[in-house]
Amino acid sequence: MTTPDAPAPKSKKPRYAVTVSRVVALTPRMRRVTFTGEALAAFEWSGPAAHIKLVFHADTAPVLRTYTPRRFDSQTRELDVDLVLHGEGPASTWAEQAAPGQTLQIAGPGRAYAIDAAAGAFLLAADETAIPAMATILADLPPALPVQVFVELSELSQAAALDVAHPGASFHWLVRGAFDPLPGALLEVAVRGAALPTDARVYVACESGAMRRIRRHFLQERQFPAAQLTTRGYWKQGATDHPDRDFGEE
Ligand SMILES: Cc1cc2nc3c(=O)[nH]c(=O)nc-3n(C[C@H](O)[C@H](O)[C@H](O)COP(=O)(O)OP(=O)(O)OC[C@H]3O[C@@H](n4cnc5c(N)ncnc54)[C@H](O)[C@@H]3O)c2cc1C
Repeated sequence: MTTPDAPAPKSKKPRYAVTVSRVVALTPRMRRVTFTGEALAAFEWSGPAAHIKLVFHADTAPVLRTYTPRRFDSQTRELDVDLVLHGEGPASTWAEQAAPGQTLQIAGPGRAYAIDAAAGAFLLAADETAIPAMATILADLPPALPVQVFVELSELSQAAALDVAHPGASFHWLVRGAFDPLPGALLEVAVRGAALPTDARVYVACESGAMRRIRRHFLQERQFPAAQLTTRGYWKQGATDHPDRDFGEE
């Protein structure tokens, strides 16, 4: 069992035609793309760590990929999405060449993460694809809460993509080397060493296999309560278009 998600604002995910208005290189491997469009007048921010679908080639052979709404301004109808340039795949290659004036469709958002008011502390564990999700969670956490943030990065410059401060947060940047065998291996080692109070809540989002290893560690080795643990597989090594509902619970 995981922490229950907050209700989505709508049961059927609407689609919005949007135009790229701005592209910023947050880091050498992370692009922030700002979308605008009249259609976004109906877009509803559902909360932290929600997801949307970017729909490429909507009119011909649609290709959908899952991303996190990083910021939405209902006044200006601007929606920011931060995309990792990981090297291959339609979304990553689109992000490399994204420029103002380009159009696509967005669907969503899906359900957000419900922050438990009873939590005495938080541990957030992520790789760079979940930096946007971690940023939206950090922004909503009470300032007095102690928060341990573990992020595995392909290079240290990626840390700048987590552009949210929290007074109680300690940040642990784990830089993957060329010889590290598996994505998420450093993250797993670091999280294993973290001390946690019993009333902590844990949110893990990273490569699917790493997420499962970390999930097993919490549930089996630490006997950590499942209701205080949320795990999400954001991508899977060797698989395209990984599903957005990989929670590691099976
Ligand atoms: C709920 C949710 C929210 C997400 N939010 C974000 C977000 O805000 N920003 C973001 O950048 N990503 C996010 N992701 C991850 C993103 O959906 C995947 O990385 C997706 O595979 C990218 O699509 P693609 O077309 O570039 O690659 P695909 O066509 O899906 O995959 C092509 C190849 O690239 C590999 N691959 C995919 N992602 C990575 C990676 N990060 N590093 C190395 N290899 C990879 C695959 O294993 C495959 O071999 C999120 C995923 C989920 C489930």
